[in-house]
Amino acid sequence: MGKPLNLIRGVNMKRIDDLKNVKTAAIGGHMRPDGDCVCSCLALYHYLKKELPGARVDVYLEEPPAPFHVLEGIEDIKSEFNTDETYDVFFALDCNDERLGDALPVFRRAKRRVNIDHHISNTGCGDVNIIETEKSSTAELLYELMEPELVDEAIAKAVYVGIAHDTGVFRYSNTSPRTMQIAAELLKFGFDFSKLIEETFYEKTYFQTQIMGRAILGSVRFMDDRCIVSMVSRRMMEFYCVGPKDLDGIVNYLQGVRGVDCAIFMYETGTLEYKVSMRSNGSVNVAEVAVKFGGGGHVRAAGCTMNGTYHDNINNLSREIAAQLGWESTRRTSKTQQ
Ligand code: 5GP
Ligand code: MN
Repeated sequence: MGKPLNLIRGVNMKRIDDLKNVKTAAIGGHMRPDGDCVCSCLALYHYLKKELPGARVDVYLEEPPAPFHVLEGIEDIKSEFNTDETYDVFFALDCNDERLGDALPVFRRAKRRVNIDHHISNTGCGDVNIIETEKSSTAELLYELMEPELVDEAIAKAVYVGIAHDTGVFRYSNTSPRTMQIAAELLKFGFDFSKLIEETFYEKTYFQTQIMGRAILGSVRFMDDRCIVSMVSRRMMEFYCVGPKDLDGIVNYLQGVRGVDCAIFMYETGTLEYKVSMRSNGSVNVAEVAVKFGGGGHVRAAGCTMNGTYHDNINNLSREIAAQLGWESTRRTSKTQQ
């Protein structure tokens, strides 16, 4: 194993040469930030404050889900993006620029742009791009870029929680031997990892549990039961007093149904507009499906935003999924056989 790359000096030496003069740095992640995104931003925030002691470091993110408030530094996150500031460097984490949302103009204006991500659909939007798709998470990728002696407990906790979220607590196939090694290194800091995972990953509010139950109850299987779909409307969200942040995990539950190759979950975001989440067991490349509709992600977990009615969206998605599975409806097959 080679010596880990020092993020700042490493980037400096290899691709850009003026990061050591950075006086202002910004960090941003994707809209509706998930565990890996929030934790990557926090880990890099703590790290840069040590690496660049004279610099001001700002983090721009939409308000993170409540459970992440147990992490150090979360209160420093700025959710108000209208700033005229021209940062010396802007780090876009866990996404490409399209998903930075309101932080996009700040990113574009920055003197240097660094993009660090692990999404297969990201082609890189920075002057420097560190896109490593074999990494379980952006948090894991960042950890590999850090100088080990600068990693402290706050960074360790953030990296650990970030990895845990993107691997479904070390369960998904993106978990590598190195992921487990890193987790072991992080546990040596002695924090209460069990409590952290319980609070940020498993624990749900009563209403979150209710809406999950409602979504599962309303799920429908199709394509010879190889696919499953469920939808939550804006009216349902109002009824159960929940928002988009409260719907995490539903699609994973659907994917857990025996015999299902691909799970689709949608929630209504506007008139004839749905946010789509897809999961697969590997027999469908859902990133490819999502990219066709302007989204992206990973082979087994991806998403996009779609316009149209719920049924039109299912039809459009299932056409792509069926093509990948080589599935033809019995009706169609018997017709062509006639
Ligand atoms: P989720 O279904 O949990 O929202 O997202 C699954 C994966 O797909 C995550 O890695 C997420 O970053 C990515 N993803 C979800 N929605 C979009 C989207 O609209 N565009 C892109 N590029 N990636 C997405
Ligand atoms: Mn991620």
